[in-house]
Amino acid sequence: MTARHEGPQTLTVLLDRDLLALNRLVGALRRHNLPVEGLTLAAAEAPGVDWLTVTVKHGGATLDTTVRKLRRLSGVRAAALSPVDEGLSQEPALVTRSARVDPLRQRESPMPTTGLQVFYDDDAELGRLRGRTVAIIGYGSQGHAHALNLKESGVSVIVGLRPDGASWAKAKTDGLDVRSVSEAARAADVIMLLVPDQYARAVYDRDVAPHVTPGKTLMFAHGFNVHYQEITPAAGVDVSMVAPKSPGHLVRSEYQAGRGVPALVAVATDASGAALPNALAYAAGIGCTRAGVLPTTFREETESDLFGEQVVLCGGVTALIKGGFETLVEAGYAPELAYFECLHELKLIVDLMYQGGMKFMRYSISDTAEYGDYTRGPRVITSAVRETMRQILADIQSGVFAREWIDENKTGGANFQRLRQADRDHQIEQVGARLRAMMPWSEEGKAAAAASLARPARAPAPVRGDERVAAR
Ligand code: NAP
Ligand code: MG
Repeated sequence: MTARHEGPQTLTVLLDRDLLALNRLVGALRRHNLPVEGLTLAAAEAPGVDWLTVTVKHGGATLDTTVRKLRRLSGVRAAALSPVDEGLSQEPALVTRSARVDPLRQRESPMPTTGLQVFYDDDAELGRLRGRTVAIIGYGSQGHAHALNLKESGVSVIVGLRPDGASWAKAKTDGLDVRSVSEAARAADVIMLLVPDQYARAVYDRDVAPHVTPGKTLMFAHGFNVHYQEITPAAGVDVSMVAPKSPGHLVRSEYQAGRGVPALVAVATDASGAALPNALAYAAGIGCTRAGVLPTTFREETESDLFGEQVVLCGGVTALIKGGFETLVEAGYAPELAYFECLHELKLIVDLMYQGGMKFMRYSISDTAEYGDYTRGPRVITSAVRETMRQILADIQSGVFAREWIDENKTGGANFQRLRQADRDHQIEQVGARLRAMMPWSEEGKAAAAASLARPARAPAPVRGDERVAAR
């Protein structure tokens, strides 16, 4: 990134809401002796982070170096420069010398322009779960997080699992009351079904349905099975959804850090007349109302979730990465270089967009990269590709995709396993595993470090095949 002006500049920094981080940042600014004209600190949209905006009287070549150094400070999530009047931060000039955040600002900030209601801690009554027992069926990505968070929020929790499964011992070790699925469903007032969607119907029909009696609440973290009518609960039962917009492991770690991840809430059947406040109490118990919970419907959640993961987050992105990688390798470029260009750097770009949108990302890249972005991107995602996106959405809306996936599982999932294996064998995965073993922060890097400590001559352990993080 190159400073474009010698005149006044705005330095915008996104940093953890932590006095140590602030101290480090201010120390670094002092060491660089910047001619500071103004200083503002304001809460960012995301929980636990703030924007620090510094107006510097005049720019100069050293400012770029300063910004690069700031980005490396622990607690600094992003830092960027812009000429005054083109400030990157959309934040109002909330001038303050303290890191205190006005709770009203925080409440209003997540989606200020859409008019959509967002529920926070103040809108939820955790007490609604008092005297009720919650059964968490499944103890995987979401299940372990929901069970442990609820327990620590003071809710009475039991976990329902198959006694011969791997999760049983894990949940026991974590100090939970573990029972068979059927026993947990029988004993609970609220049943949250957190087994993989493709097995949910079988688990439900066999062990849960007999205990879903009037007055109880059946909950989901994804609308698939209810929306496509795989599961049709009996009358008199509240059917609701709290769908964290995050992998389960973050649901847990954010809760432990005193924060939470955003979630969607929906009600399919409101038999009690209090299905929504009860669902919000559950969302509070797992920490989601700390971050914000958006109301939706089972249909909207299911269709938009499937579309997002198929077209952009999982399907679109991996196909784009593989397409770019293969094009470079076919043209004779080193696979290692192609890996860095097409996969590794993607995280850095996505991090910037996550922090400040595309404009924030584009400010950090070179002008050459930015020009290529505007002129070449639309040549990749052509109108034909957009038409395909519309067809994929139509298949989701009509239930064609759901039927295909349900049938795939009914017939043993052989095609799914074949596709999974083919992608595990792809050259980019082999190259990537070797390269990541050299990066201490990666899974392979950690495994390599551990292996070299234990057995100096051994190669790094491969990544476990079943490790994956669903993009939600
Ligand atoms: P997951 O990690 O794949 O679930 C694994 C758990 O389900 C394990 O405890 C496993 O027990 C249990 N299980 C699997 N088959 C079972 C069966 N036949 N009978 C009893 N238990 C069984 O699932 P997940 O990814 O957390 O997804 C759960 C729900 O949350 C889904 O509706 C999903 O769409 C939704 N969701 C997921 C995410 C995410 O990040 N993963 C995000 C938002 C929403 P064993 O050890 O016995 O096999
Ligand atoms: Mg999703």
